[in-house]
Amino acid sequence: MPTAPLCSAEEGPVTALHDVISPVTEEVVASVPSLSLEETDAAIARSRKAFETWRHVSPGDRARILRRFSALVDEHNEGLAQLEVRNAGHTIGNARWEAGNVRDVLAYYSGAPERLLGHQIPVPGGVDMTFHEPLGVVGVIVPWNFPMPIAGWGFAPALAAGNTVVLKPAELTPLTAMRLAELGLEAGLPEDVFQVLTGKGSVVGERFVTHPHVAKVVFTGSTEVGIHVAEGCARGVKPVTLELGGKSANVIFDDADLAKAAATAPYGVFDNAGQDCCARSRILVQRSVLDEFLALLEPAVLGVRVEDPSLDTSEMGPLISAGHHATVSSFITDSTNVVIQGQVPSGPGYWYPATVVMPSREDDPLMTEEVFGPVVSVMAFDDEADAIRLTNATDYGLSGSIWTRDVGRAFRVARATESGNLSINSHSSVRYWTPFGGFKKSGLGRELGPDALHAFTEVKNVFISTEG
Ligand code: NAP
Ligand code: MG
Repeated sequence: MPTAPLCSAEEGPVTALHDVISPVTEEVVASVPSLSLEETDAAIARSRKAFETWRHVSPGDRARILRRFSALVDEHNEGLAQLEVRNAGHTIGNARWEAGNVRDVLAYYSGAPERLLGHQIPVPGGVDMTFHEPLGVVGVIVPWNFPMPIAGWGFAPALAAGNTVVLKPAELTPLTAMRLAELGLEAGLPEDVFQVLTGKGSVVGERFVTHPHVAKVVFTGSTEVGIHVAEGCARGVKPVTLELGGKSANVIFDDADLAKAAATAPYGVFDNAGQDCCARSRILVQRSVLDEFLALLEPAVLGVRVEDPSLDTSEMGPLISAGHHATVSSFITDSTNVVIQGQVPSGPGYWYPATVVMPSREDDPLMTEEVFGPVVSVMAFDDEADAIRLTNATDYGLSGSIWTRDVGRAFRVARATESGNLSINSHSSVRYWTPFGGFKKSGLGRELGPDALHAFTEVKNVFISTEG
């Protein structure tokens, strides 16, 4: 783990250090540089210089380096996963999947450099063709909830399209991103093509937005900071991709497989301790089956294994920080109607129990605000139209699930839902080869899938006269 300051005392000011704390033990697990504005500018200048080389590396060589990068991530899956358990308190099972996702995203986009095709368009008097040119330096800003996958969704397609990348991990969770940058170098990425810049969002992240040589910003995080980032990018006429919050609905109709819907509902919201932008944090149930559903939900919620995340059996770890624990706790007051609540381990760690609440009002903050913890609200609806109205009664629109055995209804409701990623009779949201992103205040643009690559290029049109 690189813990040494970037500059020695003789060379100039010593870089400030920031402690990284385990949410399981509450102990310091590493100390990482907190870069200054000047250091950020120097890294962006190096990235800009590296772009002039990287963009001219032949497509086949770029592809080979990315394939090697993917293979190295696979080889180091266990080490990366253990690092994420220590840094972020993710369950070991989840963390292995997350490192595997980085491997897969790199492998998927390693097929892109040789396939970045343009058009040849019929025109009179000559030949017209288009090129997908790389943008230059791409700034990727990553939140703490999924440090590895969200980093990969940005840097893999950006590098494949010929850009260089500066990536700012969340201050709370920088360790796996730093390790991934080392593996990139080992795979043969030229120096400075992919740099991880640790530090504060208000310093390093903000500079990606304001620096004229950062050509694009990919931001994942809160809607509040996302709006600020988009305003800054607008001033620089800089493209921006935003992946923001969510308040997704898990809609259960009376003809659904209720046993399966109830057994899986906890995993649709409590995965990663509910710190998931796709969490189905509102369960909307048809009134006629509400009591039956709640009776099935209780053992499912109490059965979620909340324990030391390094154990293979663990299904839920702690929240990321003491501050976040206080935020999540503040949503539950003496007047909250808590209908089911699980247990947490005693001792250190920012644990919060799996909690099911039943607010009486649609405008209750538990129905409208993203808690980002293991808290789910249940509310009844009357019919299909009511289900659609309630599902869409949120500023967000990231994901959601629909449970019904009626195929026609499943598609009607899916098409009427203002949301980017829907799952019928299941809770899946993310596959690296399908597009991911949000409607409304959940974001702008799409990541992953076949089209994400074009979010990292500009189209150039060239006309060649054939007149003698
Ligand atoms: P956040 O506070 O918005 O922070 C996200 C990232 O932005 C961090 O790296 C942060 O740095 C940085 N940042 C803070 N201020 C900045 C500024 N002025 N300019 C540029 N960057 C800045 O979000 P969070 O609390 O880490 O993450 C939780 C939120 O992310 C939730 O709302 C969740 O829904 C959302 N999220 C969305 C998705 C999605 O795909 N839609 C995925 C994951 C998370 P610091 O380390 O200094 O805070
Ligand atoms: Mg924050």
